[in-house]
Amino acid sequence: MTENRADLAIVGAGVMGLAHAWAAARRGLKVVVFERSLRAAGASVRNFGLIWPIGQPHGRMYDLALRSRAYWLEVIEQARLPYWPEGSLHAVYRDDEAAVAREFAEVGPRLGFQCEWLDADQALSRSRALNPASLLGALWSPTEITIDPRVTIATLPSFLSERLGVQFRFGCSVRRIDLPLVEAGAEHWNVENVIVCSGDDFESLYPETFASSGLTRVKLQMLRTAPQPDGWRLGPALAAGLTLRFYRSFSVCQTLPALRQRIAHETPEYDRWEIHGLVSQTAQGELTLGDSHEYGPVVDIFNKEAIDCLMLRYISTFLSAPDLSIAQRWYGVYVKHPDHPYLTLNPAPGAHIVTSPGGAGMTLSFGIAAETIAEIYV
Ligand SMILES: Cc1cc2nc3c(=O)[nH]c(=O)nc-3n(C[C@H](O)[C@H](O)[C@H](O)COP(=O)(O)OP(=O)(O)OC[C@H]3O[C@@H](n4cnc5c(N)ncnc54)[C@H](O)[C@@H]3O)c2cc1C
Repeated sequence: MTENRADLAIVGAGVMGLAHAWAAARRGLKVVVFERSLRAAGASVRNFGLIWPIGQPHGRMYDLALRSRAYWLEVIEQARLPYWPEGSLHAVYRDDEAAVAREFAEVGPRLGFQCEWLDADQALSRSRALNPASLLGALWSPTEITIDPRVTIATLPSFLSERLGVQFRFGCSVRRIDLPLVEAGAEHWNVENVIVCSGDDFESLYPETFASSGLTRVKLQMLRTAPQPDGWRLGPALAAGLTLRFYRSFSVCQTLPALRQRIAHETPEYDRWEIHGLVSQTAQGELTLGDSHEYGPVVDIFNKEAIDCLMLRYISTFLSAPDLSIAQRWYGVYVKHPDHPYLTLNPAPGAHIVTSPGGAGMTLSFGIAAETIAEIYV
């Protein structure tokens, strides 16, 4: 058995682990990352790849999302990763949706959001992917960035390793943490601090801390088309009326309850599975479509075809793309706390769990990581 030394060990090579590795290594710390799989296969490669500040409530969380976005830009440019800083559109087709979008375009800028209302013609000139029939307009925001999560999460380890000397141990599960000792696979490491970014694994490490944390799992069903023909690109990432009731940013709108009530009355099936419609595009030109939300500690391993049908029904009301035939279906799981946007827990001196950025882990990861590292290494 070998014994090694590092300043900081990180558990998990999902986006949270990688972001913490970057934030620590750029301060000159010696960092080792352990990932139990041969390549990361958790929520971080199963998502839309949307860096989505517009979904964060104003104030601390929106500011954190913007800081995180700035770090992302630094990293993806240095790592020469593909990205599309093309913003987002929330397209609206009903009067109550338009009321919310217009109200947010009015109050949002006063709260710090960069957004504006576009009428139908202006929206169509920003996106050729919007269905023009009955389109009333859209909420435009320039701050959203799309990355390709599979490419990004697969590439960042070699970038961090080559540029910043971060060591990676893939296929190496952390079994025990008793600082300064970390046991991982067949290796023993001596470290000062450990940051656990184990995603939805609550069982392997610190099970009692997780059990009392209030965290739960959320399952999301997702779909992906084949690559769009002839290099067709989506442009801004797309959302629509259902999304206005999903993200907390929009809860400042006094017109929101009427929209919620109409959806609950007219299409309760969307509320039943907490469905809304988001569309992003990968480097290869596939469209990523979703999503739904099922809550609870136990994840149903079987996808529900009815949910996929509902998502496709809804998305086809606003998306007009050359090829909507579905090539891939999967689900992802993230961890969420009912009251906190994410959790940092300290189960033992030097041990830090940083988890549960919910459906905003891509958006917030680099911002959260910068804060964690600044707090640990004052
Ligand atoms: C379908 C879906 C769509 C989403 N879309 C978006 C989006 O567009 N924008 C956005 O901002 N957020 C999005 N999210 C949320 C975001 O993906 C997550 O918040 C984020 O990926 C969580 O990252 P993580 O590193 O904590 O977890 P994970 O990516 O799950 O990584 C945890 C890693 O830890 C490893 N691990 C666990 N235990 C051990 C151990 N003992 N030893 C070694 N390794 C271990 C696991 O193997 C895993 O690779 C989405 C989530 C899902 C599921």
